[in-house]
Amino acid sequence: MDKVLQVDNLHVQFSTFGGIVHAVRGVSFSLHRGETLAIVGESGCGKSVTSQSIMGLIPAPHGRITKGQILYGDKDLTKLKEADLRKIRGVDISMIFQDPMTALNPTITIGEQITEGLMEHQRLSKSAAKARGIEYLKLVGIANPEIRFKQYPHQFSGGMRQRIVIAMALICEPDILIADEPTTALDVTIQAQILALFRKIQRQTGVSIILITHDLGVVAQVADRIAVMYAGEIVETGDRRDIFYHARHPYTKGLLQSVPRLDREEADLVPINGSPPDLFAPPQGCPFTARCDHAMEVCAKADPERTHIGNAHFVNCWLEDERAGGRRIAAKKSA
Ligand code: SF4
Ligand code: MG
Repeated sequence: MDKVLQVDNLHVQFSTFGGIVHAVRGVSFSLHRGETLAIVGESGCGKSVTSQSIMGLIPAPHGRITKGQILYGDKDLTKLKEADLRKIRGVDISMIFQDPMTALNPTITIGEQITEGLMEHQRLSKSAAKARGIEYLKLVGIANPEIRFKQYPHQFSGGMRQRIVIAMALICEPDILIADEPTTALDVTIQAQILALFRKIQRQTGVSIILITHDLGVVAQVADRIAVMYAGEIVETGDRRDIFYHARHPYTKGLLQSVPRLDREEADLVPINGSPPDLFAPPQGCPFTARCDHAMEVCAKADPERTHIGNAHFVNCWLEDERAGGRRIAAKKSA
């Protein structure tokens, strides 16, 4: 599959009054054309910071990409000037956020808002932009788009507004759509409709989607591939089956056991004890050591490297690394 984006060894820091927060620590992943990659993890794990880095939205001077590359075509996005990023943002790479209201201006008709990017970036005439706007409102399932085009955001429900935001993000036909918790503010029925809409749009447009979420239910519905983040690092990646049925990392297993599932009684839910490490002073070893039931001596000393399990499945855990005794030890423990 074609790669549309390649993130290599990304490091992002924030200076605060309390010191330097090492929010993203050596994140690498690729995104293929037409796939949905979900980046999952608890709040504060660095998933939103990763997506903001791709969009060039790390707030300077406090936030800074200190290392790594983000390759989009032949461009390294970490090296571009703001003016060049602006040409890419919303055109080649679009982003939608949790709260549709912050993305919409309450005083401007949605027709004007939805076509603004088109007229600015693609120099379409007003009537051509309008035709495209109406087409995209239809695409995201807004009935009577000609009438709706002239209305204001408050005349739409929350779910409709999120559909409009999605139409706005897609209208310039981007290669990549980044959706950060796009359904968190919506109720469950609307959430399911929006997720179905992502699937439909992807089939029709071939857009690649990066879905940022803490919600494994959402991931199960739409992700082709999943990257699990913990304490600023990716600890496991794999396709949907690898992660949901064959997870190897103790943190991924813990996450899966802590969410309700149809095939499990509520009493069987097991929360992960403890809390993530302090990212002011990240541990030098595996960041999960303090919470891990399988931790070995080596875990606190050195951060495990990526081990290839098979196909698209990779894990960062000493249990899987032959140099630490690897699977042999894991097998003994579970025997
Ligand atoms: Fe647990 Fe060690 Fe694996 Fe980290 S490397 S998840 S501490 S077994
Ligand atoms: Mg977030």
